[in-house]
Amino acid sequence: MDNLKKLKHEPVPLAIIGGGAAGMFAAAVAAERKIGCLVFERKVRLGAKMLMTANGRCNFTKDVPVATFLRDVGEPVASWAAAALQSCPPQSIMRGLKSLGIRLRRMPDGRMFPDSGQAATIVHAFGDLLRDQDVPLCVNCPVTGLQPVKNGFIVATAHFTVWAQNVLLATGGLSFPKTGSVGDGQDFARYLGHRIEPCRAGLTGLEIRDRAIAAQTGARFEDGEAHVLDATGQTVFSALGEVECEDWGLSGAAVYNCQRWLARHGLNGMSMRISFGGQTRTVRALIPRPLKEAIVTIGGVSREDVDPETMMSRKVPGLFFAGEVLDIDGPTGGYNLTLAFATARAAVVAVQNRLRD
Ligand SMILES: Cc1cc2nc3c(=O)[nH]c(=O)nc-3n(C[C@H](O)[C@H](O)[C@H](O)COP(=O)(O)OP(=O)(O)OC[C@H]3O[C@@H](n4cnc5c(N)ncnc54)[C@H](O)[C@@H]3O)c2cc1C
Repeated sequence: MDNLKKLKHEPVPLAIIGGGAAGMFAAAVAAERKIGCLVFERKVRLGAKMLMTANGRCNFTKDVPVATFLRDVGEPVASWAAAALQSCPPQSIMRGLKSLGIRLRRMPDGRMFPDSGQAATIVHAFGDLLRDQDVPLCVNCPVTGLQPVKNGFIVATAHFTVWAQNVLLATGGLSFPKTGSVGDGQDFARYLGHRIEPCRAGLTGLEIRDRAIAAQTGARFEDGEAHVLDATGQTVFSALGEVECEDWGLSGAAVYNCQRWLARHGLNGMSMRISFGGQTRTVRALIPRPLKEAIVTIGGVSREDVDPETMMSRKVPGLFFAGEVLDIDGPTGGYNLTLAFATARAAVVAVQNRLRD
């Protein structure tokens, strides 16, 4: 009991808000580097969205050189994310997962999956690692407020507050809100003076009123192609891959990647030519499916307000960002999880340097 007399109220070195892909990876890196951290997660379990990825199989990265990865991501995201990717390339993510005992499967095009074919293998491995490293996990515990104070931040939940020296916002985008990503991080960041780029759907299907397409609902064509056309009918962007017929229009990787390119560049007035199974459709009024159904959110915390080397806010020292809460996104194929992991690692390394100073 004598010990109690010596107790002092100390801040946690790092509070991670969000236990999704970026938050779990950040906590794993923090544990590896012996940085005291605490994870707050809105849902009862970690990684709800990750469990849904690639139809539950989790295409966690693409095994290509960083230069190829960045070319595929495209501007304006690629140059901003380059430093984080160079420090945490796909191959080091693969090594890290292997070191957790996860067997990996590589597709001929470089897409990487757990060999089990189950996203749960990766989510459970992160959970086990955090448990074994005694990382405190506050699940079922949405953060409701964030206030900078003299020596860090007050992180508030409905029932208690925590004093943190540094905070990492890893609360995700706005799609599939039932997984917990409802836009809280963007609200906290806006309240603390950051610009928020408008959030819109990325990697989503296109609504096309066409009875012939609706009649083929459920049909999938592996070797489809989609082309974005300029006013003269010339292709300005194209993507190869799956095209799937839905009762509302077309989905699949080829459609998603063109839709993302258009949304990222704000070019919604353009038309698209989509070919699949010997059929070709030219679509003029391009109506994307809603953000809540999108694979990724385009928009979020402005890249200009965040240092790309450290992921630290340029407005609030000690506040860091990782993953989809930021205005970053990539094409289908493992790019978005990799961006979440790489930005998370960059943030934790920077927190460690800040704690040393
Ligand atoms: C259907 C689908 C399939 C996908 N497939 C792939 C794929 O195969 N490959 C790929 O690379 N990407 C894929 N993605 C995209 C990928 O899942 C996301 O880009 C990635 O999960 C983003 O990670 P994140 O940590 O930023 O956000 P999330 O994984 O969404 O995690 C954010 C977490 O923060 C928590 N949170 C939010 N607010 C609070 C709060 N106030 N307090 C506490 N916790 C909070 C949420 O509950 C959530 O768990 C897919 C997405 C979807 C929807």
